[in-house]
Amino acid sequence: MDCIFCKIAKGDMPAEKMVYEDDKVKAFYDIHPKAPVHILVIPKEHVASIAHLEENHADLIQKIIYTAKQIAKDQGLAGYRLVFNVGRNGGQVIDHLHLHLLGGWKGEQDRKVHV
Ligand code: 5GP
Ligand code: ZN
Repeated sequence: MDCIFCKIAKGDMPAEKMVYEDDKVKAFYDIHPKAPVHILVIPKEHVASIAHLEENHADLIQKIIYTAKQIAKDQGLAGYRLVFNVGRNGGQVIDHLHLHLLGGWKGEQDRKVHV
């Protein structure tokens, strides 16, 4: 299957700026950041979207959110947003589940973000 995030998960994209990796998940900087800090957290397993979740993915989703929380803490983010885009009408472009971690804003105004 020709999935760009599966390739990143496998380490086949050496140019990617990695943030975190373990046996289940990987985190890396978004190539087109929509916030001062914009990181994507993905499962290594190919799951197309939140709409494709099965009941046995509960641990995986917990892990993805927990990873984002740890990264936010490590990066010293005072506050942040976590976003799953689901389906084309939800703004999802890449059909491999990913959690957007967005933060690093200083003012009120520029916190408005469209990912
Ligand atoms: P979506 O719109 O599917 O929720 O988000 C996909 C995100 O992946 C976008 O924010 C886009 O900038 C990012 N992206 C697309 N291709 C690549 C890539 O090859 N590398 C990285 N690091 N990010 C990518
Ligand atoms: Zn994939």
